[in-house]
Amino acid sequence: MADIASGLPVLVDAHAHIDEYPDTWLGAVLDHLEEERIVTVSVAMAPQSYERALLIQERSNYVVATLGVHPWNAPYYVTRLDELEDALEGSPMFGEIGLDFRNVRDSSQHDAQERVLEFFLSAAKEQGKIVNLHSWGAEAEVAELLERYGTERAIIHWYSGPPEPLRRMVERGYYFTFGCELLASEQIQAIARDVPVGQLLTETDNPGGPQWVYGEPAMPDLVKTVLQALSIVHGMDTVEMAEQVRLNMLRLVGKDDRLKRLRNALEGSAGH
Ligand SMILES: [Zn+2]
Repeated sequence: MADIASGLPVLVDAHAHIDEYPDTWLGAVLDHLEEERIVTVSVAMAPQSYERALLIQERSNYVVATLGVHPWNAPYYVTRLDELEDALEGSPMFGEIGLDFRNVRDSSQHDAQERVLEFFLSAAKEQGKIVNLHSWGAEAEVAELLERYGTERAIIHWYSGPPEPLRRMVERGYYFTFGCELLASEQIQAIARDVPVGQLLTETDNPGGPQWVYGEPAMPDLVKTVLQALSIVHGMDTVEMAEQVRLNMLRLVGKDDRLKRLRNALEGSAGH
């Protein structure tokens, strides 16, 4: 990536699972974030992932830990949502949350997924927080719930559904993260083209996302390759796209005090 290695602003990975890297990788991953200046939102599959991410966050100003319950884990947590109350308050945004009717075909689990998502959307509304959403195979249902809960600030992760829910979510001003599948899939490239430049964000979904697509986890600088692909899709220069994505993330964060660390990192003052 020598061609774009210099002159890049602070980069954004708005959806990664830093807690899922094995301990043996973690030191190198955190060094990498610092060297490449990659501000990373670490979303959680479950409360334990959030707790581990909180410890990791103490080691790096580039990591922001957020609490979520992934739709795959919803059936287990749906009966114990009250146990999450304390952690909810402290989490500066919520994710990974959402619905997945594509990988979870057993429709008896869909109700649990919806109840867990509604629990988080309701908390996000009450606390004015950003949500980081998974919507595979349930894009219209997710769009519908976001409308019903009046969700104002959302990051839609790895959107891969039909045009209509996409259009509805774009109209509501949500932001969309694109990741490694953008490199290989024309369908994802077409979706990325339909998202206005001012609503684009980048992600890696590390380490599980690349593992799923390519058979192995990636290091955080995967985000640079994603940026390059995104800039090609929108006919922009990579440095220009990187700056656009940084400014988009800053706009999404706004003056939210709970995201001060994230804002500082985006403004380039995370260094030691
Ligand atoms: Zn994820």
